[in-house]
Amino acid sequence: MSLHELLPDASLAGQVRRWFLPVNPDARGGRRDAASRPADTDVEYYQPYARFLGLGTSHTETHRDHPGRFVERGTRCNACRWFEVRIFREVLLPDGVASIEELSAADASRVQLGEYVIHSSGMSIVDGEVTFFRYETTRSPYMVIELMTTRQTTDRGPEAFLAKPAAHALAEAAEFDVALRDAYVNRAVS
Ligand SMILES: [Zn+2]
Repeated sequence: MSLHELLPDASLAGQVRRWFLPVNPDARGGRRDAASRPADTDVEYYQPYARFLGLGTSHTETHRDHPGRFVERGTRCNACRWFEVRIFREVLLPDGVASIEELSAADASRVQLGEYVIHSSGMSIVDGEVTFFRYETTRSPYMVIELMTTRQTTDRGPEAFLAKPAAHALAEAAEFDVALRDAYVNRAVS
């Protein structure tokens, strides 16, 4: 489930076209937590021509047993607030060609693969809270794994792992992108 109609769902994985990915204007490259975001942020669109490789989400249909319609701040309910991540890879067309449908056989060999795009959404249906969008790009499939890796320090020391949405998106993406498949299979974290 996505709150944003322009964000593709899993059924569109593998499609190549221009995507319109919502981004908070002040969010490019930065990490900000939900509490610090302004309530009235306008959304811009990052518009890569790309193959959609996969998505993962922490969304659940069922609310946890919380009083009131929405969960309070600081309490987790993945039906009230959740995280979505999508992976794309840019498709670079020859000059003058607007879509892969227009490609001639002669041009087909001039199509190149560009950067990976990782688009993240912090979703909320709680009154007074807004959704939060950002993206990061990288040429390296290993960097895709790194950018999607959660690092935290616990009493057992530093830990690195792929949270469930990230792992799901990567597993889906591995089906459509050979370089990412190799990086995923050979990853150091589980
Ligand atoms: Zn809830």
